[in-house]
Amino acid sequence: MRFQLTESQRALRDEVREFAATEIDPVAADLDRDAAYPEQILAELGERGITGLTLPEKYGGRGEGLVELAVVIEELAAGQMALASAVGLNLGVATVIERFGSDRQRERWVPEMAAFETVGALGLSEADAGSDKLAMETTAEREGDGWVLDGHKQWVTNFPNADVVLTYAKTGPDADAPHNVSAFLVPAEAFEVDRYWEKLGANSVKSPRVTLSDVRVPDDAMVGEQGEAYVQRGTVNTGVNVPARAVGIARAALEDTVAYTTEREQFDHPIGDFQGVRWRLGEMAERVDTSRLLTLRAADRADRGLTVDRAFPMAKIHATEAAVENANEAMQLHGGVGYTREHDAERYLRDARLLTLAGGPNEGHRDSLADAVVAGETETTE
Ligand SMILES: Cc1cc2nc3c(=O)[nH]c(=O)nc-3n(C[C@H](O)[C@H](O)[C@H](O)COP(=O)(O)OP(=O)(O)OC[C@H]3O[C@@H](n4cnc5c(N)ncnc54)[C@H](O)[C@@H]3O)c2cc1C
Repeated sequence: MRFQLTESQRALRDEVREFAATEIDPVAADLDRDAAYPEQILAELGERGITGLTLPEKYGGRGEGLVELAVVIEELAAGQMALASAVGLNLGVATVIERFGSDRQRERWVPEMAAFETVGALGLSEADAGSDKLAMETTAEREGDGWVLDGHKQWVTNFPNADVVLTYAKTGPDADAPHNVSAFLVPAEAFEVDRYWEKLGANSVKSPRVTLSDVRVPDDAMVGEQGEAYVQRGTVNTGVNVPARAVGIARAALEDTVAYTTEREQFDHPIGDFQGVRWRLGEMAERVDTSRLLTLRAADRADRGLTVDRAFPMAKIHATEAAVENANEAMQLHGGVGYTREHDAERYLRDARLLTLAGGPNEGHRDSLADAVVAGETETTE
């Protein structure tokens, strides 16, 4: 077993690290403060093929795997987590279309989404369907040769910059759950915005609540098999971008803290000389490495078609909580200025805090992890 990236993976990492250093880092804090969507940066990532990284080359992607996605998302999130979330959500939608859509849908949507020329958003959660997605109330009724959708979606990340929302709606009775949910490509302009939230973090990307009232879509707006959309999306592993985003924040928090504690002096010493600080730098590094290894393991297993029932929730729980810890430590070790917008520690903490909730709260992932453990899933050496 070799714990190292291949040459091409390292080249990809270096390319995106360089891009993040020159294009994202200098503007990340301002974009966050202004709650401004990083449109230009996302367009450039689209031109470079980064936003379509794991999509097939035939559809404008780079044909890379989830390991490469984890590597890239870490770099982007170290620059700005919200921007990385915009990439992850759009790619997740494009992946569902590519995996389960018709040839026509693939040709129509995937190349433009790969290039971030068309932006996809995910309409799955609702006000009363958060962790319990199958409690969704949005319905799609058959009418003539199309479908009529009614309901609402909450937390639609990328809206209002999105062109299309992959909208999950019930097309069958609850007795058939989970085989009673279908997915539809609904143009963003068909939704009315109910409200934008004032969020703690991830400010560059909005995630409003939106309503659909009697919205008619044609038959070919349905992606995948009728009634099977919820089950099908469970087999798409682009969700590994969530722990990868956490690794990015945890690493950025560590790097900033090493730099600050080396330069800041108190009691005639750099504060980084004090053992009480040094040990914590070591612990922060430990969290970065364990989070990255777990995330890459989950991505690698998914790439090899192996089960991730244990590996994915473990990576999600560990990395997201490590990011919160590291951001919190970064703030503490920056002292008073860490509590201000002079430094990025406060942004890391605000952004990291989202990740134990989004992509499913960690409590739900703890349940999944326990299920896998009790079922005897070992997943360590395969
Ligand atoms: C900024 C942001 C962006 C998002 N983007 C999107 C998006 O683009 N598309 C989309 O569809 N969704 C999105 N989401 C939704 C996100 O996935 C949900 O918020 C999440 O799944 C949790 O749902 P909820 O907020 O309703 O929490 P709830 O389900 O109400 O849970 C509240 C809390 O209860 C506890 N809890 C819940 N279930 C259990 C359990 N089984 N055992 C123990 N404790 C439990 C946890 O502490 C949890 O945090 C986003 C959310 C946010 C905040």
